[in-house]
Amino acid sequence: MSLTEKDSQYLWHPYTQHKTASAPIAITKGKGALLWDENGKEYIDAIASWWVNPYGHSNTFIADAIYKQLTTLEHVLFGGFTHEPAVKVAEKLLAILPQNQQKLFFSDNGSTAVEIAIKVALQYFFNKGEKRTTIIAFENAFHGDTFAAMAASGISLFTDAFQGMFIDVVRIPVPVVGQEQASCDALAKALKNHKCAGFIFEPLVQGAAGMVMYEPVALDTLIRMCKANNVLTIADEVMTGFGKTGKTFASDYLVEQPDMMCLSKALTGGTIPMAITTFTQDIFDAFYDDDINKALFHGHTFTANPTGCAAALASIELLQTPDMQANIERVNAKHLAFEQRVQSHPNVVTTRVLGVIFALEIKTESAASYYGNLRNKLYNFFIENGVILRPVGNIVYILPPYVITDEQLEKVYQVVESALEIV
Ligand SMILES: *Cc1c(COP(=O)(O)O)cnc(C)c1O
Repeated sequence: MSLTEKDSQYLWHPYTQHKTASAPIAITKGKGALLWDENGKEYIDAIASWWVNPYGHSNTFIADAIYKQLTTLEHVLFGGFTHEPAVKVAEKLLAILPQNQQKLFFSDNGSTAVEIAIKVALQYFFNKGEKRTTIIAFENAFHGDTFAAMAASGISLFTDAFQGMFIDVVRIPVPVVGQEQASCDALAKALKNHKCAGFIFEPLVQGAAGMVMYEPVALDTLIRMCKANNVLTIADEVMTGFGKTGKTFASDYLVEQPDMMCLSKALTGGTIPMAITTFTQDIFDAFYDDDINKALFHGHTFTANPTGCAAALASIELLQTPDMQANIERVNAKHLAFEQRVQSHPNVVTTRVLGVIFALEIKTESAASYYGNLRNKLYNFFIENGVILRPVGNIVYILPPYVITDEQLEKVYQVVESALEIV
């Protein structure tokens, strides 16, 4: 039996309707921006394996750091114990995070980072004896698949089966160009009509919605309105963090600083599942008390796993090298040139670029659904041509590892251009 056949006998895949999905491709090897399947076919990973892998596959610098940590101290419980890798990650991150971020809480993935931020927002007010139970979130947001994260998410395909079982969430429009006022008005109404504890958002780019982008000034206005109402702001930087937008964090484009930040995905360069939620001192202080009930009773068995911390340290070190920064600028410049090349194509509705993220919307007769026919046709076309891209409805986006070569990137562009001829 091939790997693929064994897989279909034993395994259940994410976001997959197994009755209609084609068999998964068995990948046996990766290097840089490339992956190879069990038949030796080569693919360019133009989405950095769901946005986790900026420094390339099988990176030996991160691998060496992991090996060294694994053979020194692979894990120790974080309840009542600490270790150098966790402290070092804190020191390294606090040096590059917005300066109001003062405390870190470790978990395992983007959803848990969000879950923790939402629980902290709710308990912050509980601890202060104030009843605030509503969370504000954007339309079409994606914050993960655990329950509070799903509640905050607005993509119905992911959450429909669970409607009526969620915490209270008020949804406001994304302040894309032309919608800024509508977004402000909706926020003002939410702040007036609900007892709001927190506002969670994907800063500047909504990833899973199809790389929907909006301006920092618009977000600054919304954050300011929240601050005026003592509502805690949560920047979900799970996708945008660590250079994707051209700055270390999307929040670095803002004047206002969020009260909490959620980090995961590229945190460990795509090697070990790990996440961090960060907080202001004021938030930490609301849990700091003689009363044990005011503590944050949340934890995961692998909290602050030393091996994950070592991977995070090595990853952040790589991000900070001049070479990697130059890669980010190079990919951005290439994207901008490609945008010029395709934006007037008759089948292109619109294009957008921020940092290493490129997106284009393809003209369609009718509304394209998230996993609809057009999406499947495009996806299969890209795979046949040796490029991994996962369109969202009629939106094709590119978010490559920063280390992708110019030649590889050019091939991705050419395949996207050819796809415009088959739709
Ligand atoms: C991917 C993602 C999450 C969820 O992260 P997981 O590690 O998949 O649980 C949360 N928020 C944003 C913005 C994401 O892109």
